[in-house]
Amino acid sequence: MEGLLIVVSGFSGVGKGTLMKELLKRYPEEYALSVSATSRKPREGETDGREYFFKTREEFEELIRNDELVEYAVYNGNYYGTPKAYVEKMRSEGKNVILEIEMQGGMQIKAKFPDTLLLYVIPPSAEELKKRLTGRGTETAEEISKRLRRAVEETEYITKYDAITVNDDFETCVNEIHKLIGKQQKAMTKRKLIAARLYKELLKITEEEK
Ligand code: 5GP
Repeated sequence: MEGLLIVVSGFSGVGKGTLMKELLKRYPEEYALSVSATSRKPREGETDGREYFFKTREEFEELIRNDELVEYAVYNGNYYGTPKAYVEKMRSEGKNVILEIEMQGGMQIKAKFPDTLLLYVIPPSAEELKKRLTGRGTETAEEISKRLRRAVEETEYITKYDAITVNDDFETCVNEIHKLIGKQQKAMTKRKLIAARLYKELLKITEEEK
């Protein structure tokens, strides 16, 4: 059976990256993590092909023109997009593909692939989010306020997601995400089996009536 797509979004600093890495480590046979293309510059410690495929704006626009992306969006003035080939390959191998992307992209994916599970990871509180952003020690105070202001804007879209998980206790959150994906897969498999059976039965009846 073809794998599902899982969109994971969340405020900057909520820890979604760490959650996804853990999920992949625990269930390497079940999941694959898509690596996005972006036109933003690499941050310190980031490697091309690991965090992102780093592209120039021109190269990125070439990917768009050649229809090589499943979705793309402009965020903070930079392009971000999901390469199509890897997603298709992994899904055809039966793996559930995780896309750690922002909400405009999430909405595009849901419109194209309605079976997708849209998952939003939230912090236990606004105060805790601020603490985590400050604790990373990589951003300036100005950058942190910018991220918090963006978080305010993003809350409006959270209701469009299928499920919300709170990243309070890490272990609980990883388990919950895995469970939610399993539930979605079961529900989709069941629907597909019912539809396939009905299709066969109807075909038989219409053949007999000829
Ligand atoms: P950052 O620059 O901090 O790595 O990412 C900025 C935002 O872009 C994050 O919300 C991240 O989830 C999102 N993002 C990363 N890759 C993609 C992608 O392929 N498509 C879309 N739409 N958003 C992405």
